[in-house]
Amino acid sequence: MKLSTRAVHAGRDDLVDLGLHAVPIDLSTTYPSRDSHGETARLDLAAAGEALSGSQVYGRVGNPTVARFEAALAELEGCAAAVAFASGMAALSACLLAAVTAGRPHVVGVRPLYGTTDHVLETGLLGTTVTWATADKVESALRNDTGLVIVESPANPTLEEHDLGAIAAACGDVPLLVDNTFATPIRQRPVESGARIVMHSATKFLGGHGDVLAGVIACDEPYARVLRQIRFATGAVLHPLAGYLLLRGLSTLPIRVRAASATAATLAARLATHPAVAKVHYPGGPLVSVEIHGDPHQVISAVRLLTPAVSLGSVDSLIQIPAALTHRVMGADSRADSGISDRLIRISIGLEDVEDLWQDLNQALSVSHRVGDS
Ligand SMILES: *Cc1c(COP(=O)(O)O)cnc(C)c1O
Repeated sequence: MKLSTRAVHAGRDDLVDLGLHAVPIDLSTTYPSRDSHGETARLDLAAAGEALSGSQVYGRVGNPTVARFEAALAELEGCAAAVAFASGMAALSACLLAAVTAGRPHVVGVRPLYGTTDHVLETGLLGTTVTWATADKVESALRNDTGLVIVESPANPTLEEHDLGAIAAACGDVPLLVDNTFATPIRQRPVESGARIVMHSATKFLGGHGDVLAGVIACDEPYARVLRQIRFATGAVLHPLAGYLLLRGLSTLPIRVRAASATAATLAARLATHPAVAKVHYPGGPLVSVEIHGDPHQVISAVRLLTPAVSLGSVDSLIQIPAALTHRVMGADSRADSGISDRLIRISIGLEDVEDLWQDLNQALSVSHRVGDS
């Protein structure tokens, strides 16, 4: 079946037999049973990383509502399994801890990456060390203790794209993690290019309405077992209500991404001719980044329809300055190394009418141009 069909039906296979239309939300923190021996056996399985069906013993082990979202996302990414976390950074942290505990704490990173991802790698906060490499130099950056290669495509915030197949081939046996937050499985399924690990900040397009903080890793079952063990031990679980909202978000993901991408393509073409704009970064999709001649802070203070805020992938359009906010924490040197200009503005296009968005962007950019001229 096609992706838009699967987006609506994945994770819901049993609903008709249950006599339900909406997915049930299970808010239990614990699961009662009179069979203690049985529960012991189940807990042993969970501690070894197995996904339990039926009683979860305890809420930190797993949750049936969250499991529906995991099953649906795994299906959309073409993976055997998915493991959900409390945020995108919790999901990434679990992968970094997996590399550290496997005795391969060295990570190869291809810049640019999301600011906090860059920050965690650059500081070695979780016990990893990093070598930064351009996409064509990944192979020569690998070491015996390399446990992970990390890339984003399109990358946050410059929207630079990479040949994932070439990078996956260069990785050899080292797992390649692709942060697929910007592309979504609608535009790109990294496992088809040879990536082993697909990460999402589900906070963005998967949730799609700016009301869920979540992360998820889609991968093979052996890697999922490792991640479940880490999630069980570290406790960065997703709340069941968030699992419900994410599953709901997935059903409209294809139509949202397609509509926002069409609007973004029109706006990117118009932005390229605006006198305030020095450069447009637009590889397709719902995000557009622009470097402007004037002060980007003037644009942010001048928008009236676009939402001046970090994050992306919502039904409303969001606009922000990466150097000031999302990529602030990584520091000026790392930003320069990543090609992130102080005059870069990142725009996440939502579902508003294209003419209304253009009117607002046009007037806000013109304000910056006038201020910049004076
Ligand atoms: C937002 C984001 C993250 C971090 O996700 P959180 O849900 O905010 O923890 C990671 N990668 C990319 C590309 C992002 O945009």
